[in-house]
Amino acid sequence: MSKREFQTEVSQLLQLIIHSLYSHPEIFLRELVSNSSDALDKLRHLTLTEEAYKALPFEPRIALELNEEKKTLTISDTGIGMNEEDLTSHLGTIARSGTKNFLSQLSGDAKRDSNLIGQFGVGFYSAFMVADQIEVTSRKAGEERAWRWTSDGKTGFDIEPADHPSVGTTIVLHLNEEGKQYANSWRLREIVKKYSNHIAFPIFLTYEKSEWNEAEKKSDKSQVTEQVNEASALWRRGKNDLTDEDYKELYQSITGDSQNPLFWFHTKAEGSSEYITLFYIPAKAPLDLYQAEYKVGVKLYVKRVFIMDDAKELLPQYLRFVRGIVDSEDLPLNVSREILQQNRVLTSIRTASVKKILSELKLVAANEPDKYLTFIQQYNRPLKEGLYGDFANREILLDLVRLKSTTVDGLTSLADVKSRMIPEQKSLYYITGGAEALLRTSPLLEIYKRKNIEVLVLDDEIDEIVFSGVTSYSGLDLKAVNKSSTSEDFTEAEPTKAEHLQPLIARLKTILGEKVKDVRVSTRLADSPSCIVSDEAEPSLQMQQMLRAMGQTELPALKPTLEINPDHEIVRKMLDRSDDPLTEDAAWLLYEQALLMEGVPLQDPAGFVQRLNRMLQLSI
Ligand code: ADP
Ligand code: MG
Repeated sequence: MSKREFQTEVSQLLQLIIHSLYSHPEIFLRELVSNSSDALDKLRHLTLTEEAYKALPFEPRIALELNEEKKTLTISDTGIGMNEEDLTSHLGTIARSGTKNFLSQLSGDAKRDSNLIGQFGVGFYSAFMVADQIEVTSRKAGEERAWRWTSDGKTGFDIEPADHPSVGTTIVLHLNEEGKQYANSWRLREIVKKYSNHIAFPIFLTYEKSEWNEAEKKSDKSQVTEQVNEASALWRRGKNDLTDEDYKELYQSITGDSQNPLFWFHTKAEGSSEYITLFYIPAKAPLDLYQAEYKVGVKLYVKRVFIMDDAKELLPQYLRFVRGIVDSEDLPLNVSREILQQNRVLTSIRTASVKKILSELKLVAANEPDKYLTFIQQYNRPLKEGLYGDFANREILLDLVRLKSTTVDGLTSLADVKSRMIPEQKSLYYITGGAEALLRTSPLLEIYKRKNIEVLVLDDEIDEIVFSGVTSYSGLDLKAVNKSSTSEDFTEAEPTKAEHLQPLIARLKTILGEKVKDVRVSTRLADSPSCIVSDEAEPSLQMQQMLRAMGQTELPALKPTLEINPDHEIVRKMLDRSDDPLTEDAAWLLYEQALLMEGVPLQDPAGFVQRLNRMLQLSI
């Protein structure tokens, strides 16, 4: 027998489980049953697709056996089984990167709230909440030898050769103080029904039944075995045969999430391609939503047979928060990952599924606005990613995202912004590139305020990238206010002022030289003397800063255009005294304050302060 140590993360996870999950120890059974169900899914798939395994019998069953006297609970399955190496790596280490990330997020004591953990599948190790000793005996499909893994869940485990009557796995839990409450057939039946009723395989419970024998004045004991779950692929039933409770139960059994889903969409497609989809939106965004290695939440079935639960092809990446099931009649059972990538059937399921999910969301937005807002609080950001990547569905995604704006508190839809347009308004406008407070006070907004035109305040990091690619909404141009051409919308308002300003503009150009691309008379300013704007095709100054921060050093130094306000007192005075040596300081200050208002740091703060002080000395 060889003694082996747990990987550090396993020890951490075990500690965490013991200390934080204690309020729901019953979930251990859900975890073990779901592992058995996974193992059966894997074996069935193998026997259907791999020549070498075709002759293997597939008699799916999961059995729970209770021994009240010995205080043991045994969970066995006729699934794929594990060999020595599997036992060591699957039950001795944590392979899933999501689990590691989860652990690191939880490292502070304050964050260890059991809600968060309940949302997350803790897996096999949760059994140590109820057992002080666990034996896992297993024989892998296609192999002769069986192995036994034993552990007290403290430091490590032992592995030794063993006997196992058939292919599959048997797990014996030696129940501890906490676990004794589960040495009760009623309790077990209740837990199986609660979490695992819709597992696709039958779950049997064997226990000792005692019945009072009136004649002999004693209780008769007998071993009984009964099936405790429904074992139906519930998504195959019609909507009318299913209650909300059925849907919620199925959701919890496939996701392990202890909360109810926000909503679900169940579709049966018939015709050229036959399939069923059942999609759920979790109440809370999955913990790995913003991790590159996210776990896929939609399982692929073919004719009720589980195929895989990590097919990234089923939905586009921005819908990675969706959970559920796709069950196809037309795909081959031995469909491989390579085939999936370019399979026509799958492509059409995917296209239709995306359309379905988005249009259902639009209905929720229209009919249940409060619920939709809960959704948006979790998923606005992934929808924006969709705007960037899913060109075909851009228009509906634009209807679904919610944004901040200058006229409303909270969030608004583009449709509402459109409905609030003033009569002479031709386009929709937005401002990007910085924190909300900075955006809201930007001089670039002045003309819009004066004309009562609503401007979207896009302060999310990804807004600038996303919206630089979105140029229209519902037949209207969607324009950034910090782009040079946007001011053309307002030129007719102030047609002739430019002429007499030409000498000043020429002077400013000479003084600022290389720093600016151009100096122009602005039509968008009201209270501020100056502002800076970028060219249509160029990234804004803030965006350039961001790109440099991300390591894009190759970026050419793109120059902004300075716009001056012809009606501002400072500008008017500069015009009168354009030969004054002070004009030079004033010119720089106009440029520098415009940068500051956009949140762009100055390259020469010392020079700025000297200029400012010279001005202050003169004015005090
Ligand atoms: P997860 O199920 O999320 O992968 P678990 O901790 O529940 O995490 O299980 C770890 C791994 O151990 C599984 O992925 C599987 O490979 C293996 N395993 C657990 N239980 C069984 C079983 N009954 N039969 C076969 N393999 C199993
Ligand atoms: Mg598991």
